Amino acid sequence: MPSMNVCNVLQLGELLMSSLDALANIFGPDQLVTDEHVLEPMLKEWRDRFFGTTTAALFPKNTDDVVRMIQIIAAHGDHIITQGGNTGLVGGQIPRNKREFILSTKKMNKIRKVNPENNSITAEAGTTLHEVQMAAADIDRLFPLSLASEGSCTVGGNLATNAGGTAVLRYGNMRDLCLGLEFVTADGSIHDNLSGLRKDNTGYDLRHLMVGSEGTLGIITAATLKLFAAPRDRQVVMAGLESPSDAVALLSLAQELGQEQLSMFEIMPRIGIEFVTQYIPGRRDPLEAAYPWYVLVEYSGGSKQGALNGLMERLMEEGLERGLIKDAAWAQTEQQAKDLKYLREDFSEAQKHAGARINHDISLPVQLIPQFMEEGAKVVSSVCPDARIVSFGHLGDGNLHYNVSQPIGMDRDAYLALWETMNEKVHDLVVSMGGSISAEHGIGVLKNDELARYKNPADLTMMRAIKQAVDPGNLFAPDRILRA
Ligand SMILES: Cc1cc2nc3c(=O)[nH]c(=O)nc-3n(C[C@H](O)[C@H](O)[C@H](O)COP(=O)(O)OP(=O)(O)OC[C@H]3O[C@@H](n4cnc5c(N)ncnc54)[C@H](O)[C@@H]3O)c2cc1C
Repeated sequence: MPSMNVCNVLQLGELLMSSLDALANIFGPDQLVTDEHVLEPMLKEWRDRFFGTTTAALFPKNTDDVVRMIQIIAAHGDHIITQGGNTGLVGGQIPRNKREFILSTKKMNKIRKVNPENNSITAEAGTTLHEVQMAAADIDRLFPLSLASEGSCTVGGNLATNAGGTAVLRYGNMRDLCLGLEFVTADGSIHDNLSGLRKDNTGYDLRHLMVGSEGTLGIITAATLKLFAAPRDRQVVMAGLESPSDAVALLSLAQELGQEQLSMFEIMPRIGIEFVTQYIPGRRDPLEAAYPWYVLVEYSGGSKQGALNGLMERLMEEGLERGLIKDAAWAQTEQQAKDLKYLREDFSEAQKHAGARINHDISLPVQLIPQFMEEGAKVVSSVCPDARIVSFGHLGDGNLHYNVSQPIGMDRDAYLALWETMNEKVHDLVVSMGGSISAEHGIGVLKNDELARYKNPADLTMMRAIKQAVDPGNLFAPDRILRA
């Protein structure tokens, strides 16, 4: 579709009105919402760190609605903050003033096509991750992206943040799972590339520009995603370990034995298991004794149930022989496997109950993780001596959620006042070791200043040039990722 000049497609009368009045001329109350009770949950994020305000939320039902909404808001010089499931963790989806309208994709939630021959699925942006997983399962396929927020987060949000999660080790992150996109840019152009081709070298791949752009370059309206053969077997173990070095050695062993089948390798500290068993009803300690560290390991695949038994058995035996594993719980039923996974999934929720926390979502070369844990503890202690480090996450990807809970008894606000100092010191360490300050959650408004500090200046210049070229009026998500 050719691009359009937005001023040409609006009537003069529409330009003389406010965005809100012009929108109300076209969209009914089911698509244009100003009721503050409905808006309230859309204006705060999951961790209660960002609270916002807006004039209205818009609910397009199809791509043409998105185009029309863009035209009106752009013509008035207002802004659009796209929101999917509102589970993002860097504040990008929360509007911050009355000129920032929420565009919610919640009513664009159709599965447009499921294609078993091409192993692909085409879903609208507001479809939840869980719905995509279920639609894949219905045709005996797997959509492998897996996040604790999967019941609420959406395909559009997953793409806009290039979400990762627990299966990246085997299947890659959302970028790797995306075959094509439909998206709308600030001039109202619809870019339709949903054919599901696996090979298409026809110049710049705009899909990759949109993935990870956090709503700053346009609105993703639909996507064609890769599906995989549904695994017939899953072997899940939670093992108790002495140290992060043992965890890295066990990861290496697990890869040597079955790299192709290794679909999860998560690390957890004892304190996190204690938070989960203390604060989340129904969760139990996985092993009889307590260990300083735990790993959750999954092998999946195979042509029949039990096919990977031998593989897991070898990992357990060799891990025990080498002194890497101290004890382990091996799930024998699907429910037991789920229960072990819940222990890991509930970490963020449980930590909320242990008072305020200062978060980091970092990545490092895997072999440097033990050194980082040691040096990180000194850095944290220099900022707040009794703070409690809960360092957990996707060890197989070198990605840690390095979340630091307040000391017992400390005033919450006094602790949170240390956020920037602690972030700076931890991130300085991460960058000095060759790591990233944002492994999978993105930049949003939480880290835009830090991005300016740590990112290579040549990359920043190119990123600014792209934003300016694609969205010259700064219609989308002002100050997210890059400050104006
Ligand atoms: C309990 C919990 C666990 C989590 N675990 C993980 C994890 O393991 N790995 C991980 O990567 N993330 C994780 N997250 C973060 C979050 O779930 C992901 O970032 C998710 O991909 C966001 O999807 P969403 O639909 O909720 O997006 P939102 O929160 O609504 O939006 C996130 C960003 O994407 C933009 N956006 C949303 N939809 C669109 C669209 N259609 N077009 C353009 N831009 C859009 C928004 O403007 C915003 O910048 C977790 C979050 C929670 C609460």
